[in-house]
Amino acid sequence: MSLVLKNIQLDEEEVVNSFLEWAKVNAPSGREKNIAEMLENELTGMGFFIQFDEANVNFKGEIGNLIAYWEGTDSSIPPLFFSTHMDTVLPTEGLKPVIKDGVIYSDGTTILGADDRAALTAYLEAIRYVQENDIPSGPIELILTVNEQQALQGSRYLDYSKVKSDFGYVFDSSGDVGQIILQGPYSSKFHLEVIGKSSHIGLNPEEGIYAFEIAADIIKNVKVGKIDEETLVNVGLIHGGELSSIIPGSVKMTGEVRCFNKAGLDEQLDLIFSAASRAAEEHGGKVVNKIDKKYSGFQVDKGHQLAKIALDAAEQIQVHPWLTRTLGGADTNNLNENNLTCITLGNGFRNIHTFQEHISIKNLVNTARYTVSLIQSWYNLHKND
Ligand SMILES: [Zn+2]
Repeated sequence: MSLVLKNIQLDEEEVVNSFLEWAKVNAPSGREKNIAEMLENELTGMGFFIQFDEANVNFKGEIGNLIAYWEGTDSSIPPLFFSTHMDTVLPTEGLKPVIKDGVIYSDGTTILGADDRAALTAYLEAIRYVQENDIPSGPIELILTVNEQQALQGSRYLDYSKVKSDFGYVFDSSGDVGQIILQGPYSSKFHLEVIGKSSHIGLNPEEGIYAFEIAADIIKNVKVGKIDEETLVNVGLIHGGELSSIIPGSVKMTGEVRCFNKAGLDEQLDLIFSAASRAAEEHGGKVVNKIDKKYSGFQVDKGHQLAKIALDAAEQIQVHPWLTRTLGGADTNNLNENNLTCITLGNGFRNIHTFQEHISIKNLVNTARYTVSLIQSWYNLHKND
């Protein structure tokens, strides 16, 4: 890469103001129509071709995923995508941002929505910067999903035939800018329906099979929490019981396993199901198992062009890069499963999904600078092909 890159200096005030405007647009999961239409308007003005898919019919959302394509200055370069989600986990209506010591917070009565309006703002500001400064660029595609906060449903049902790119980046992680996530987990939910036998404690107690006892044995015999460096197990929900006078005849338990490799995930599920059957058998009950796949894992090699460009682009803007992996799930998982090779990058939001959510102006501006740098590095690599 011989081309000398321009020093990327985005106007900090402009980036912050843009972020605050986008963060205030209320669009909790399933209710993204308003923000999607604003983005359609904005991106059309920036020269993007806009498409919507119909992913929302699968989960009764207001609107589908938005896929936007800009040709750039050089259409001989393969397109590069940037992706994020348009929804926020809770409403941001009435957001009153507070800026203190270089950090943006809400006033504590709503979330801030930095997850992931920070990425959305960064993409828009970065592309505007590229356009206004006549920086050479290949085609850029934006994949803006709906309903991400509800088990990644937007990307699960995305119409992948509308996407032109094969490679891209997803800024959606709490590490500071420079965090490069090359691996994400496989995840499945498991459901256990424990079946005992209900009976009245005063009338026919000897006929009852106490389902809670079976459930307690299952909980005791299943290892939960961090199993090893690769694997997490959790039992998150237990439902059962009718009346204080009735021996409970059934309990429903739901949990989840995450693991970096598929064999490890399957092994944990097997262990859970066999522990459950053993416990049920001992008490004369039964257990019915069900697995719901949440998402597949992904792994991008550290020698892959996406990783190399991410390292190079960080260094170009004097940001310290580091390679890592995470047991968190993101649209990155679903995109990779559908042959859109991509990695997750940190944009530095903190305490997400709470009213204490915040992001530093430094991370916000660096996300935009990094996006410009990635566009440049991608262009330079492919220009020399
Ligand atoms: Zn997010």
